[in-house]
Amino acid sequence: MFKAVLFDLDNTLIDRNQAFDRCLHDEFCDPATRAALRALDAGGHGERLPLLEAWRRCGGRDLTVAQLGLEIALKIQPVPELAATLQNVAQRFAIGLVSNGGSRTQRAKLQRAGLDLVFSPDRIWISEEVGFSKPDARLYALICHRLGTSAGDCLFVGDHELHDFAGPRLAGMRARQAESVLDSESVTRILREEGFG
Ligand SMILES: [Mg+2]
Repeated sequence: MFKAVLFDLDNTLIDRNQAFDRCLHDEFCDPATRAALRALDAGGHGERLPLLEAWRRCGGRDLTVAQLGLEIALKIQPVPELAATLQNVAQRFAIGLVSNGGSRTQRAKLQRAGLDLVFSPDRIWISEEVGFSKPDARLYALICHRLGTSAGDCLFVGDHELHDFAGPRLAGMRARQAESVLDSESVTRILREEGFG
């Protein structure tokens, strides 16, 4: 049976919130300012324009959405052993990456995390490139079509309740919500628990 494992990127395979925090620390000394901006960021899911306005108002630079995205990407640090573990998984199953966001930013994050060569180019789905975002049902359907597998043979792993858990399940996939950024051990454990071991 042909099986596939699909991973979210931000806060699943990379610690995106830690990278955002590093940006805050580089630009703002005041803990209350950092906390307010962190709240507006909402783990990357908050509206970008109010965040950027507040960023500037608090004395930070005048950044565009793309510039902030790249700043965050540059602060990403690889999770030790993760790339090797995913390469190992890829020997047995199709693995894919499904991420909402801009092409340049998400690809820069993948590169910084050392994961850009782990996923084959035709198995990376970034919303700006695809034209659909999670949790749009058309995205999950398109992925199954491209993989040539049924939804029931796909396992989706990610941190977002709607994008990576409820959405994929509605599309007929199996899904696991990651409780924290994945490491080598948690990837292995999740796959084993889901019968992909
Ligand atoms: Mg995420």
